[in-house]
Amino acid sequence: MLRRPCWVEIRAQALENNFRFLNGIAAPHAELLAIVKANAYGHSLGLCAPAIVRAGASWLGVTSVEEGVEARSVCPEARILVIGGVFPGQGIDVVANSLTSVIWEPSQLNEIEAAAHAAGAAPASVPVHLELDTGMSRQGTDEAHLDLLLTPFSPDSPLRLEAVMTHLFAADEADGRVTGEQLERVDAALKRVFASGLRPEILNIGNSAALLGGQVHAIEEIAKRHGLGTMLRPGLALYGLVPEFDPAFAATEPQELTQGRIQLQPVLSWKSKVVSLRSVKAGTSVGYNGTFVATEPMRLALIAVGYADGLDRKLGNHFSLLVRGHRAPIVGRISMDQTVVDVTEIEGVEPGDEVVLLGSQGNQVITAADHAKVSETIPWEVFTRIGPRVARLAV
Ligand SMILES: *Cc1c(COP(=O)(O)O)cnc(C)c1O
Repeated sequence: MLRRPCWVEIRAQALENNFRFLNGIAAPHAELLAIVKANAYGHSLGLCAPAIVRAGASWLGVTSVEEGVEARSVCPEARILVIGGVFPGQGIDVVANSLTSVIWEPSQLNEIEAAAHAAGAAPASVPVHLELDTGMSRQGTDEAHLDLLLTPFSPDSPLRLEAVMTHLFAADEADGRVTGEQLERVDAALKRVFASGLRPEILNIGNSAALLGGQVHAIEEIAKRHGLGTMLRPGLALYGLVPEFDPAFAATEPQELTQGRIQLQPVLSWKSKVVSLRSVKAGTSVGYNGTFVATEPMRLALIAVGYADGLDRKLGNHFSLLVRGHRAPIVGRISMDQTVVDVTEIEGVEPGDEVVLLGSQGNQVITAADHAKVSETIPWEVFTRIGPRVARLAV
C-alpha cells in the first residue's frame, strides 16, 4: 500500500563512513562501541545496526534487553551491551541472546547469575560490565558499595567482570575539570577492583564529545596504567552530528573536532509533500486559534506532517521548511497531522512537491541542531521523537 507522504530517508553509506572516520580517530588507542539505542536515535535499528557492523563495528550499545533482542535478530555476530541494565525477570533473555548487561546493583548480578545457572552456563562464561558512578548520580555504584559488587565474581560463578564502565557527563566542557575528576575516581576504583583479585579487560567510557573533544589519550592513559583496553561509545557523531561544545573550546579546538566537522555526514533526511494549495486574502486567519493572520494576499501550502509525527509545536510561526529549494515559513500552529507553510514568494509550487523538514534541498540545509534551537531542546531529542508512523527508508 502506498503511504501518506511523511517519511525519513536513511543513508547507510553515510553511517558507514561516519563509523570508519570515528574508528580512525580512536585507533589504535581505543575500540568503539556504536550506540544504537532508541531505534538508532530514531534512525531505525534494522537499517543502521547492520550497516555499522558492515563498517567494522564489533560492539553495539542499546538501552534495554528488548532493544538487545531486536539488535541480536539483525546482527547475529555482534557483541551487544545493554546500557540501561537488566530488570527483574529479564536475565533469561540476556543469557539466551548472548547480551552483555551493564550492572551496578547486586540484584542485577543475582538476576543474571540465576539465569546463567539455569541455562547451565560454564564458569566465567557470562560477561558483565560494572558501572561506576563517578559524579553524574544517574546509574553506577558509588565508592561505598563497590565491594558488594565485586564479591559475586567467585571462580565458580558463571559471571565474568569483562569491563569497568562510567559515563563522562561533561566532556563538552572546555576546561576538562569535571572529566579530570571523573578519571581520578575511575583510577581509584580500578585499584580496588584489581586489589580484589578480579581482572577486567576493558575500560568502557566516553561518548561522542569525549571522542571528538580529543580526550582519548587521557582516557587511554588510565586504562593502560591498569593493563586495560579502552572503549569509547559514540552515538550522535555516528549519525553525522557534532555535539555542541563549550564556546571556550574554540580557541584550542582539537584536530579531531575540526576533522569531524568536515568528515561527518548527516545520515537522516525527513521529508513530506505538499498536499494542497490555497490563496488567501489579507486578514485570513491560519490554523488553531488563528495565531497567524495573513498580512497581505498569500499563497499557502498544506504539508502532510504534524506534531504526532514528531514535529515540535514550538516550531509553529517560528521555523521554515524547504520547498523548491527555498525556505517556506511555517504559519500558524502545527496541528497533530498537518502544517501550513507560506509559499507566496516561491514560484510554481504544486501539490506533490517534495518538502524537506530536516536535510537538504538545492543549496539549503536544515539540521537537527536548527530544529533543536527553536524547539529549545537538543539534537538527540529531535531525532528520537520522530514518530513511529514515519516510515524509515534506506536510500
Ligand atoms: C547515549 C549514551 C552514549 C552516547 O552518547 P552521545 O553523546 O550520543 O555520543 C554513550 N554512553 C552512554 C552510557 C549513553 O547512554
